[in-house]
Amino acid sequence: MFEGLKKKFSDFVDGLSKKEKNEGEQAEASAPEEKREESRKGPDVTLTTKIKGAFLGKVKVSEKDAEPFLEQLRVALLETDVNYDVAERLVTKLHDNLVGKEVGTQNIQKELRNEIRNSLMQTLTKNSGIDILQRAREKKQKGEGPFKVLFLGPNGAGKTTTIAKMAHMLKSNGISCVISASDTFRAAAIEQAVIHAKRLGVDVIKGVYGADPASIAFDAVAYAKAHGLDAVLIDSAGRQETNKSLIEELKKMVRVNKPDLCIFIGEGIAGNSLLEQVKQFDQAAKLDGVILTKLDVDAKGGNTLSILSDTTVPVLYFGMGEKYTDLVPYNPQFVVDNIVPG
Ligand code: GDP
Repeated sequence: MFEGLKKKFSDFVDGLSKKEKNEGEQAEASAPEEKREESRKGPDVTLTTKIKGAFLGKVKVSEKDAEPFLEQLRVALLETDVNYDVAERLVTKLHDNLVGKEVGTQNIQKELRNEIRNSLMQTLTKNSGIDILQRAREKKQKGEGPFKVLFLGPNGAGKTTTIAKMAHMLKSNGISCVISASDTFRAAAIEQAVIHAKRLGVDVIKGVYGADPASIAFDAVAYAKAHGLDAVLIDSAGRQETNKSLIEELKKMVRVNKPDLCIFIGEGIAGNSLLEQVKQFDQAAKLDGVILTKLDVDAKGGNTLSILSDTTVPVLYFGMGEKYTDLVPYNPQFVVDNIVPG
């Protein structure tokens, strides 16, 4: 699945080698075969840096050395759906870290590449996540249940499917739950929640099409209390962050039902719009986390970099397919490898 991206990065690496070729042509002509091999393998530094390095064992990365790396990183970031402004800021930060840095001459390419990977990893691990299972267990042990989770986000992002995956995960770990089919905006969504619940062997509370979603969630919480269920997973109608009345409705759901967690469900394949959505939904309903779906559909997860660099909201899980078991914990290494393969 990442072959295309890996190929792009190797092309970038090859491109850099070519760019440096003119400057290094004379030296290359007389270099032994393994030297030529090395220059084909990765981005290279300038001839001046190489000559200095040959004498000193260590070299300072010059502006000229860093530039081709940074230019190609900029392209890799944009190609993996990182927001433009965020990409620019990351590149500038890396520029400041790299230029003037002393690196060993043994494997300059690898050192620079690692520097970039470490910097991306820092951003990707900036907001500490929450353990949903642990939180549900704690509430259960204290007898303060049910544990309420509201799922929100744009239409078609995968809310209902993710709720089903979450119900499966909770149930497999001994946490019983009921699904609140509160996406009353679409009759099909209610039906979909009912089908998932039936397949999973969990209860579902639904209203009629167009009913007040807050009151359905309220009923689901009452049902959970009456039946000693540990968790309530609340669906909601998909909405755009720009739709004022639907955002007001969402605020009402939060006021009435006081969820323990508000989780934003967004598409991993959404480009620049995703960051704006997360910011707006966070303003409306104070998000506790993000789950990105459809990472199995040619998504590289670069937009996690945008979310983590510009908000305080953690990314919790990736949706990696349509099966109930396709909900996997957020994996920053997966994102780094997609942007700059190690
Ligand atoms: P909602 O409108 O936000 O509730 O979105 P749905 O749960 O109805 O999902 C919309 C479509 O996306 C459905 O066809 C799902 O099967 C599909 N979907 C959801 N999550 C994933 C995922 O992680 N990977 C893939 N490939 N498809 C997904």
